[in-house]
Formats: sequence, C-alpha cells, structure tokens
Amino acid sequence: MPRRKLDLESVLKEIERRKAKKIGIQLPDGLKYKSEQIAEFFESKGYEVIISGSHCYGACDLDLDLLKEVDVLLHLAHTPIFELENVIYVPYYVDYDVEDFEDVEIEEKKIALIASAQYAWKLQEVKKFLEERGYEVELKRGSNRVKMPGQVLGCNYTVLRNSKADAVLFVGDGLFHPIGAKIYSGKRVYRFCPLDKEFEEVKVEDFLKKRYLSISKALNAEKGAIIVSRKIGQKRLNLALNLKRKAKDRGKDVEVIYLDDISPQVLENFLYGYYVNTACPRISYDDIELYSVPILTPQEFEIMLGLRDWENYEVDEIP
Ligand code: SF4
Repeated sequence: MPRRKLDLESVLKEIERRKAKKIGIQLPDGLKYKSEQIAEFFESKGYEVIISGSHCYGACDLDLDLLKEVDVLLHLAHTPIFELENVIYVPYYVDYDVEDFEDVEIEEKKIALIASAQYAWKLQEVKKFLEERGYEVELKRGSNRVKMPGQVLGCNYTVLRNSKADAVLFVGDGLFHPIGAKIYSGKRVYRFCPLDKEFEEVKVEDFLKKRYLSISKALNAEKGAIIVSRKIGQKRLNLALNLKRKAKDRGKDVEVIYLDDISPQVLENFLYGYYVNTACPRISYDDIELYSVPILTPQEFEIMLGLRDWENYEVDEIP
C-alpha cells in the first residue's frame, strides 16, 4: 500500500546546524491542513514557528515576505527551483512498490519514464524493473527547474526534450501532467497511478477541443489583457510585453496587468473579454471552469493573432 513520507527529523539537523531560532513553514494549499501538526512538532523542540497562510502553488511561489521575518523558511512538498539562502526544501514523497508495475503492458518497447515530484524519486527502481521485463527505458534529466531524472512539472517537460523513445509512461496521479507530456512530445502517453493501480492510455482530444473553443471565444471579444504574476518563479514580464507588441502590430490593443494571486475574484474587478496568462500554465489549463472569460496561454494568443497555426499547438512551458 503506497505511503506518504514527510521526514521532519532530518530537517531538524539542518535547522540546528544553521542555529535558527525562528522558522517559517510554507505548505501547498492541499497540505495546509497539516500545518498545525508540523508547527507543534517544531514548537515542541523549542522553535518559534510562523505559518505562511498565503496561497502556495509550487516551488515557484516562495513566501519571500515571511522569509524576511524568520531565520529559515521550510518550503514543504516541492523540489527546489531556486536555491535561496535560508530556504530549506522538505520533500514529501509517495512510497510505492515497483512490483505493482507487473501489470503494466505497453505495446511500444522503447519508453521514456516520467513522473511528478512526489513519485519521481523512485523512477530508477521502476526503470530497472521494467528493463528486466524487456523494455528499453529512457530516464533523462531536464532543465534546472526540475531536480530529479524523469521529473516533470506542469510548466516543464524538458526531460522529454529530444526523446528517442516511442512512447511515454507517466507515473503519478491526475491527468494534467500526462496530457501536457502528450502535447509536448507528440508521442503516445500512458499513465500508471500507484495509488489506485490504474493504468490507461492518455487522450487529449477533449482537452484540445476546450482550448480551441477558448481561442474562438477570445477572438469575438472586444479587448483583452495579458496577466503577469509577481511570484518569483512565474514572473514572465518580458514575454508579456513582447506579446503586447506583437498584438499591437496585428492591430489588437491589450493591456498588461501585474498581480500576485490570479483568481476569478481578482479578474472580476476588470471588464476584459479575455486574458492571456503568462503565469503558471495550470491557471489556463486546470482552472478553465472557474473563469467566465477565456484564459489563453501565450501560444494560444499567438494562434488567435494568426502568428501560429493550430497544427503547431504547443503546451505552455517555463523552461
Ligand atoms: Fe508548478 Fe505552476 Fe509553479 Fe510550474 S509555475 S512549478 S506548474 S505551480
């Protein structure tokens, strides 16, 4: 049975080594319910603890304000994107049995192995297991934004760059990453989830239909805006200004809006008919149902402007 692992004891040694007294704790929104338990653990060891209550999307979203108030900031459950002094990353892994891959049957024999952060730490073992079963397995390192071989982020699939494999096997839960991997690589993508042992081939037709519809709706809107996040690992102001220039050249006026958390409530204060999102790509792809107006990716905006063909649709990436 897969287990989730959060190793706080090993962090203690590092905190002691740094002679820290006051520590900040930052958890992704889905794990914030664990804050109390984690704070109590460190308080029982004599530390003063401050919990970050702001949204946290990923390692791209460090609480830099809280960092100014504490000796160390513990950023939990994400692998580092930035190595900042006084930030300690605390991994949160899913432990699973590689024997569960026994039932994974893939037609192609040359496969690339990828996973999200919580599952990627065991990919070397999965690779060995699959190789013993006759597969040729590619497990590559990506850009600096991803730390483990085979690791993908919702904004980064560089482990699949120039892949020689005929198909891709994604290990993890959810469909967001494997859909991105399929569009990025153009290969067949399979998904195995160690939590429920579900194995399937990933389809992207419905996803692409929705994206096409968003572009069509945006084309009919009068005016749009390009949104830029101020979060350290999502900020793409130059891209936004570039897109604004390209739009102007094509006779379309758009404004650039600079903000922190992007949410339907914040965007409702404006009256734009569509937005182009240069922040986390998950906002455009995953939260589509939450917004009443289209939220396009930069590549989709290029399609809308006639600068890119639909056939050259690309997944948005922060390399
Ligand atoms: Fe994750 Fe989005 Fe941040 Fe990328 S930009 S690391 S997908 S939260």
